[in-house]
Amino acid sequence: MIKVDNITLTPGESEKHLPDKVCRKLHIRQDQLLSLWILRRSVDARKGRPVRVLYSLACEVKGESRHKGAVPYRPFVYRAPESGTKELSHPPVIVGAGPCGLFAAWLLAKQGYRPILLERGKCVEERQKALTAFWETGVFDPYGSASFGEGGAGTFSDGKLYTSVKDPSGRGREILRIFVSLGAPEEILYDSAPHLGTDVLFRILQEMRKQLLAMGAEIRFSTHMTELVIRNKRLSAVKTKEGAEIPCEVLVLSIGHSARDTFVMLKEAGLPMEQKPFAMGFRVEHPQALIDQIQYREAAGLLPPASYHLSHTTKAGRGVYSFCMCPGGYVINAASEEQSITVNGMSYSGRGSQTANSAIIVQVSPTDYDAEKPYKGHPALKGISLQRRLEHKAWELGNDAIPQQLFGDYKQNKESTAYGAFSSRHKGAAAFSNLRGLLLPEMEDAFLEGMADFGKKLPGFDRADAVLSGIEARTSSPVRILRNERLETEPAGIYPAGEGAGYAGGIVSAAMDGMRTAEEIIRTYERPKEND
Ligand SMILES: Cc1cc2nc3c(=O)[nH]c(=O)nc-3n(C[C@H](O)[C@H](O)[C@H](O)COP(=O)(O)OP(=O)(O)OC[C@H]3O[C@@H](n4cnc5c(N)ncnc54)[C@H](O)[C@@H]3O)c2cc1C
Repeated sequence: MIKVDNITLTPGESEKHLPDKVCRKLHIRQDQLLSLWILRRSVDARKGRPVRVLYSLACEVKGESRHKGAVPYRPFVYRAPESGTKELSHPPVIVGAGPCGLFAAWLLAKQGYRPILLERGKCVEERQKALTAFWETGVFDPYGSASFGEGGAGTFSDGKLYTSVKDPSGRGREILRIFVSLGAPEEILYDSAPHLGTDVLFRILQEMRKQLLAMGAEIRFSTHMTELVIRNKRLSAVKTKEGAEIPCEVLVLSIGHSARDTFVMLKEAGLPMEQKPFAMGFRVEHPQALIDQIQYREAAGLLPPASYHLSHTTKAGRGVYSFCMCPGGYVINAASEEQSITVNGMSYSGRGSQTANSAIIVQVSPTDYDAEKPYKGHPALKGISLQRRLEHKAWELGNDAIPQQLFGDYKQNKESTAYGAFSSRHKGAAAFSNLRGLLLPEMEDAFLEGMADFGKKLPGFDRADAVLSGIEARTSSPVRILRNERLETEPAGIYPAGEGAGYAGGIVSAAMDGMRTAEEIIRTYERPKEND
């Protein structure tokens, strides 16, 4: 098998032409090309050259060792580790059915560990009903929010599946392969910026649940873990709000970054935690056609909706960057508490809303929030105090709706009264307001400086009718739960993992951390006794 790089198509040209192009590049006849598949597809839209779709391909060719311009290719196969020897009397418990917990459960179940997965929120079908009701009527259900429930924070999302985390172990690729086996389109295996969309995620999660159960996992929704039972500095059970006590020596804590009550409980149970930098800002919306025109020029309209990545370091040395860009998406009210608003972005698989949104966020370091009150008496949780304070302020500004403002009015410090040349696309009520003063003063300065710079990089990005929605406050966890090189914390037996524990940021990186944690458990422990 060989790998052939730098095969290009013009935007809109059919992939049926790929075999021809490969044969020409390798100087072979069509009948010598035995098979071909795509390893990577990306759009090359660098300035000063025509836009092209760029491919790397794997091919089987008769007499392939003789072909110039090609290198040998061997597909990577992910392998789970061998089971360890330490005795395990009870199945491992996983708390949180987000990407981290689900993929930890997947690997443990596949290797015969029969994990028990506890999720405080609802299954995805019930969760969708609760969240739709919230967006349409304002009736809030904390157990059916954008943060809590099957699939975790990633369910009502754009479903972007790329990560900057290095992947020498092949976990990331294995995760995409599992998604495909659960019904995701094959393109996610080779697109440089794969995405699923919330509609596809909704179906995949149901299939994943079915397969997890078939592999011996137990899943309990609406089950809120509220207490750790520790004996001799070691975990011996977890208790739930619903009254259950589940014996376990191994617990994966994949709780995400929004379970504030759980962080407090864990801190009080003695888990080591430290403050962590994160970022906050606004969702910013533009017409998708503007982004397509800037990124794809003459090829706008011939390619899927375009994306962007922007970053700027202010004169004062603070980072400002775009985050979670959702082409053809919606701004959503992602509140997880009453009297509080935090926004985020979501798309369907077709990315067809005609509006592009991303969070433009400013770095926040522990020194920025040092003056906040310790949350529930815990200085390590001061970042949560800042998030809660600003999320409540956003709720007040919008009078229970997402507060919005046009960027031109934001600069002039005056409330907006109407959209400009395009309207916001959002889920949940929105109301015009004046967002000046919502961010901390140094963050506000950085946001304005960043927007001006982004307007130079993407002309029109800082247009007066770009719509800001506030506040984007949950970009990553404000705390880290410390763990050792075997991924375990104290008390023994507890494995903090994923985004909430401070080890991931995004669907795939959280899922990778879940798999890594499961591997560590498998490597250490034999399969639980009850299975024998
Ligand atoms: C609207 C939105 C859009 C996003 N879009 C993208 C995107 O397109 N691409 C991307 O890569 N990332 C995206 N993200 C980020 C991504 O979803 C998260 O990084 C990822 O979900 C983190 O995974 P996790 O498993 O660590 O935690 P989470 O997904 O947050 O899951 C944690 C789970 O734990 C449960 N839990 C917490 N405490 C308890 C308890 N005490 N008992 C029982 N259960 C508990 C919660 O209910 C939750 O379901 C988005 C996030 C949001 C909110």
